[in-house]
Amino acid sequence: MTAFDYRQEQLCAEHVPLSQIAEQYGTPCFVYSRAALTAAYQAYRAALGERKALICYAVKANSSLAILNLFARLGAGFDIVSGGELARVIAAGGDPAKVLFSGVGKTRAELRTALQVGIHCFNVESASELASLNQIAGELGVTAPISIRVNPDVDPKTHPYIATGLKSSKFGVPFEQALPLYRQAQALPHLAIRGIDCHIGSELLDPAPAAQAAQKILGLADTLAAEGMPLAHLDLGGGMGIRSRDEAMPSIAEYLAPTLALLEGRKETLMLEPGRSLVGNAGLLLTRIEVLKHSAEKNFAVVDAAMNDLLRPALYSAWHDILPVRRNTGAERIYEIVGPICESGDFLGHDRSLSLREGDLLAVMSAGAYGMAMSSNYNSRPRAAEVMVDQGTTHLVRQREEVAQLFALETILP
Ligand SMILES: *Cc1c(COP(=O)(O)O)cnc(C)c1O
Repeated sequence: MTAFDYRQEQLCAEHVPLSQIAEQYGTPCFVYSRAALTAAYQAYRAALGERKALICYAVKANSSLAILNLFARLGAGFDIVSGGELARVIAAGGDPAKVLFSGVGKTRAELRTALQVGIHCFNVESASELASLNQIAGELGVTAPISIRVNPDVDPKTHPYIATGLKSSKFGVPFEQALPLYRQAQALPHLAIRGIDCHIGSELLDPAPAAQAAQKILGLADTLAAEGMPLAHLDLGGGMGIRSRDEAMPSIAEYLAPTLALLEGRKETLMLEPGRSLVGNAGLLLTRIEVLKHSAEKNFAVVDAAMNDLLRPALYSAWHDILPVRRNTGAERIYEIVGPICESGDFLGHDRSLSLREGDLLAVMSAGAYGMAMSSNYNSRPRAAEVMVDQGTTHLVRQREEVAQLFALETILP
């Protein structure tokens, strides 16, 4: 579904003109659609059909309380990578009993807190973590539910920064080490083996690597069962990509189909950890053009959003469609859409053919995932406001930061 569409030459979010949102809340501003978030979640549910499954939203994609709360209401679990994310899930009304804790460097304090609130499972990524968890669980007099994150050594053919399932990756344990580690876990008194986990990378558009990884994980699950370690769940991670321009894309159902075919007849609960595919296309970044600059070489549109608001173009050379909020009929030129930050890497889009005037609004599309979540205060820029549209109503779900808040925790020397 497209929550963001033109009506009478005006780009709208669920029928609310974005110009009205800019007027009311200012720019830069992230705008999310409740309907689009819900539709993405329901597409996963529908693809999973009657299978026993828990969709654990990967909080790091967008940890807005309003979004977490919406997914909690829809019945989702959560995949977290820090104690901070756990606190957010709880603050948003999420159920700790549906939380999976991933991450290669969990601190002892984080392990302790997660044990105290009773999360569903720890995705353990090293022998060292296994030992710490056993020790802390013993101190607390509880049993720690665990999966081991196995690195299936599958090439997801994605950007090197977001490929996580290769042999050379810092994530998970190498495939050959998984079985010995499970045997070790079985011998530790304060651990309970619950499942197995993998996550091979992000922005995946081809279903084959995911199915290939699933195949290896299932083989290992069978070996474990044969050794007296039957698993309650199989966690196949997240990573499905989204359409960012007009490329051909499988639907969520098509992406999952080869994997689900492998799971036919199996008893284990399926866990998935989608992040981007639940929120990416349910959000955009609304920005206003401050300055137009023309030289013999280039035309620049300097906007009030920057790499501190949306890092993906600078970090991953990611493409985001950039649309005019009001279509106008003037002649188009080729623009560099850039922010005001003092870095040449501060761009939102290269070579965009647009007809622009100073003061116009632009919408940077597909900004719902890894936008606000990766934002910073670089150049002492307050973070953007966040607005959720729900049918005809707009809700400010995060106020724009004030400059004074940026240094409120700082002191000068006496
Ligand atoms: C980042 C991450 C995800 C989510 O990835 P997406 O590409 O946003 O779906 C899921 N699981 C783990 C362990 C992750 O690190």
